Amino acid sequence: MTQMYKPLMGRNPDLQPELWLVVGKGCVFHPQPGQWLWCNNQLFSECNHVVIGHYGGKPVAVTFQKDVPEAEQTPVRSVLALQDEALTLLLSHGLQILTAERDHRYCGRCGTRCEGKAGEWAMVCSRCKACYYPRISPCIIVLVHRGATHDQQEVLLVMHNRHVRDNPVFTTVAGFIEPGESAEEGVIREVLEETGIKVKNPKYCFSQNWPFPHSLMLGFHAEYESGEIQLDNKELCQGDWFELDKLPPIPPGFTIARKLIDKFIQS
Ligand SMILES: [Zn+2]
Repeated sequence: MTQMYKPLMGRNPDLQPELWLVVGKGCVFHPQPGQWLWCNNQLFSECNHVVIGHYGGKPVAVTFQKDVPEAEQTPVRSVLALQDEALTLLLSHGLQILTAERDHRYCGRCGTRCEGKAGEWAMVCSRCKACYYPRISPCIIVLVHRGATHDQQEVLLVMHNRHVRDNPVFTTVAGFIEPGESAEEGVIREVLEETGIKVKNPKYCFSQNWPFPHSLMLGFHAEYESGEIQLDNKELCQGDWFELDKLPPIPPGFTIARKLIDKFIQS
């Protein structure tokens, strides 16, 4: 049966968890193959945890553990690759709440310990009362295309230095939005910086939450305007124009990069 995940809108200290999502560094610790949550468990209830929502109607808590002996261990990205909507929501939400708690343990203004605020996800300084909400970092991700007609269309895809060894796929250009910049300006700057290509008419398509560690990916299509490919070698090792029926290995279906490529092909 497909379960639903309904996130809480803030901490509820009175809610007792019945299920546990247990994450480690880059992985999920789970009780059995294919079973992702632990049922009420003495071991985890003694540890630092946060109730984050309801999964299948039951309150679910998230906790970070360094090690769980005899647990199954699956990389977070492999869990997301299952494309189980409720599980993806639960995991993305849980990871970002844990990141926010870890990053805001101390006040950035006065250095005093922060506490979780009931009814919100904010951490509040116990001395100066400064309030720290979970950080969400907007990024742009863009499929650049050129060609007069649909039959002649080519798309610009690049390969990252950090992916070349373990996961050599070609993907779309992406980067963080800078302070003071609109998303559209970010698209134009980022493509120029990374590939030397000037683009125009960025068109927003859709967005995706990406909890590594707290990105909100804003997906665009943009048209080629001018320039030759000149890669930023610090980040990229390959980049080229590809015809739609001769695409290289590209990212899997759960990624926004792939959704941008698929949307363009189907348009
Ligand atoms: Zn403070």
